[in-house]
Amino acid sequence: PAVIVAIDGPSGTGKSSTSKAVAAKLGLSYLDTGAQYRAITWWMVTNGIDITDPSSIAAAAGKPEIVSGTDPSAPTITVDGTDVAGPIRTQEVTSKVSAVSAVPEVRARITELQRSIASAAERGIVVEGRDIGTTVLPDADLKIFLTASPEARAARRSGELKGADVNATREALIKRDAADSSRKTSPLAKADDAVEVDTSDLTLQQVIECVVTLVEG
Ligand code: C5P
Repeated sequence: PAVIVAIDGPSGTGKSSTSKAVAAKLGLSYLDTGAQYRAITWWMVTNGIDITDPSSIAAAAGKPEIVSGTDPSAPTITVDGTDVAGPIRTQEVTSKVSAVSAVPEVRARITELQRSIASAAERGIVVEGRDIGTTVLPDADLKIFLTASPEARAARRSGELKGADVNATREALIKRDAADSSRKTSPLAKADDAVEVDTSDLTLQQVIECVVTLVEG
């Protein structure tokens, strides 16, 4: 039977690297739900939607067609057929994604997409995000909640962004997590039955091993 693994947590905890590696090791599909929220945000920005106005965002939420490729060794994301893997990682999209993803119509649309992708994954799937264990896939076979100290998270993110200022990165991360945790519709949260793993003092390999062991139960 297909195995469903939900991996949630704030940014900079190693969610993406862990989720991809676990999926590859176990022969499962992989879904980066943050990329979907980034993709819809990119579309809003590109089409001149006023992202300070939730009703404009809500009205446009059904327009873009977002397609995620779920091979963990080469995940893809397109909007209306355009590859947006690069453009969704810009500062502009990163600074606006929390506002767009707080809009209930956006969440409803993306959640439905996530559930249909998960149910189509024949061998199973690792789905990473903020509300997967609580809202999107509450019946997941395994739920992991990754945490890390703000220092560890900022250091990892700055490393990824090559030369970005650690303090500025840390401020931006804290701001985004606060917004994601305080929104009314399916905020960033640990499910009651999730296993919490603090990755601050663990290497990526150790986190991967830990999650693989939990899946193999
Ligand atoms: O994981 P990543 O940092 O790329 O996610 C980008 C943003 O997408 C998050 O800061 C959050 O606002 C939104 N998101 C969400 N729910 C998810 C995944 C991401 O609201 N399940």
